[in-house]
Amino acid sequence: MNLDFTPEQEQFREKVRSWLLDNMPKEERVEGTDQAREYDLAWQKKLYEGGWAGINWPKEYGGQGFDTFQQLIFLMEYAKVNAPGDHYRFNGLNLAGPTIIACGSEEQKKQYLPPILKGEVIWCQGFSEPSAGSDLANLKCKAEIDGDELVVNGSKIWTSWARFADLQQLLVRTGAADSRHKGITWVINTMDNPGMEIRPIKDMSGGDDLHEVFYDNVRIPLKNVVGGIDNGWRVSMAQLAFERGTAFMPYAVRSSTLMEELIDVAKNTPLEDGRFAINDDHIAHELMKLRAETRALLAMTLMGVSRNERTGMPGPEGSILKLYSSEIHKKVLKLAMEILGPERFHNPDLGGDHWAWPRKFLYSFADTLGGGTSEIQRNIIGERVLGLPK
Ligand SMILES: Cc1cc2nc3c(=O)[nH]c(=O)nc-3n(C[C@H](O)[C@H](O)[C@H](O)COP(=O)(O)OP(=O)(O)OC[C@H]3O[C@@H](n4cnc5c(N)ncnc54)[C@H](O)[C@@H]3O)c2cc1C
Repeated sequence: MNLDFTPEQEQFREKVRSWLLDNMPKEERVEGTDQAREYDLAWQKKLYEGGWAGINWPKEYGGQGFDTFQQLIFLMEYAKVNAPGDHYRFNGLNLAGPTIIACGSEEQKKQYLPPILKGEVIWCQGFSEPSAGSDLANLKCKAEIDGDELVVNGSKIWTSWARFADLQQLLVRTGAADSRHKGITWVINTMDNPGMEIRPIKDMSGGDDLHEVFYDNVRIPLKNVVGGIDNGWRVSMAQLAFERGTAFMPYAVRSSTLMEELIDVAKNTPLEDGRFAINDDHIAHELMKLRAETRALLAMTLMGVSRNERTGMPGPEGSILKLYSSEIHKKVLKLAMEILGPERFHNPDLGGDHWAWPRKFLYSFADTLGGGTSEIQRNIIGERVLGLPK
């Protein structure tokens, strides 16, 4: 098998790289502020105008419809030049958008897809509740039909970026309280809808991008329902397959780039005995092992992109990628902490953004929870990929 890129693909790589280098924002993004929202939207708008938005979206909805290799080349170059992360754009680009492409009506596609690619809206995801995380079918947030509207009462938790979002993909209970997955509806809600209250939650890395959201007689037009009343389980499974199958691909590529950065850190970080960290046998061995693992992850990502292109939708195999990518990311950052030492946590004199690696390390724990925990991914792989009993 020849895995080299063709001259045309190499040309494409060069084009991606030079466009990114010429157009990437120069200013800093300040997480958790309105500036971050404006930064993300402005970058999305620039990508759209440059012809780089929606690399795997169909052309008819404003996407680029790139082939497998073009997508991968784009993701690799994007990670290499350290272009801005998805951040607040994550839900629209990776979850709501692909779900509407797969399950929305033609009218919904026309209304909701272009603004995502053009950088006009931020989406959030209202799925989890205090007693419905891994067991999502236990959700209780209730919606009753009143004329041509749904009336929603209840609450959601862990809603990322809720206070910066315009729109929300919301899962509500439209069937009887015990109807589990048979009585759930997937609906589009607007975040300035009367009757909503949004409260930020502080996390251990210092951020407050997670929220509790409360709904008190919130009215949503029935035309915002995607996939039909009581059919939200099918819609949300399509979405979760996307979340686990494709949304984490850029993260897989990013882990590989992060690994190379860590090798540089090891080359430049002195140990107490005066040697650089890279010359310590244990550290060199761990770096080598993890570099091999991140390379294997890249190969798996390539297989994932190729499979999605063939089937049109990521299957349960996406869970392998999500599991492996989030666990490796955690390992790379744990090793970074070992190399840099506890000093990094409290010594601003170390120069640069001394808090950058510790912040990434602390946040890496979230990656093995959000989008379905590692245990749940293992269950899916066991049952639906390997065919093991429940
Ligand atoms: C950073 C971050 C961002 C998030 N963003 C959003 C968001 O925007 N919108 C949203 O709706 N949700 C969001 N979530 C919530 C996320 O989807 C849930 O945290 C996740 O599904 C786990 O649910 P839970 O927290 O209720 O834990 P629980 O489901 O209560 O799980 C607790 C523990 O039990 C284990 N467990 C549970 N069931 C099983 C089982 N059957 N087999 C084996 N082990 C099991 C879990 O793996 C976990 O270790 C986010 C979470 C994080 C960390």
